Amino acid sequence: MDTLTSEITLSNDFHMTTVTLRIGPDKRLTPGQVRRARMTLCGIDGCTCGGDCGERGPGNPYIVVGPDGAGQIMPDWQHGHETPEELDQYVAESEV
Ligand SMILES: [Zn+2]
Repeated sequence: MDTLTSEITLSNDFHMTTVTLRIGPDKRLTPGQVRRARMTLCGIDGCTCGGDCGERGPGNPYIVVGPDGAGQIMPDWQHGHETPEELDQYVAESEV
């Protein structure tokens, strides 16, 4: 039985890379997964092409990485916020 875990694929359309991560129902990424995603998708020190997990481009979920290095995939990522512009707007609205 493997119904409690699912896989997400993050992509980076600048470096043309993808990484698949296994997540549980809480939609959290361990600090190790966040590090691995960033290394796989970008891996270039100081590169600001993508988000905290190295993700970039449409189709990626919105991921918030906390101070402990763990990532939280926002639950509503499937309902919009799929383009960088929409993400920027979402973040801007969240900070109001
Ligand atoms: Zn990069």
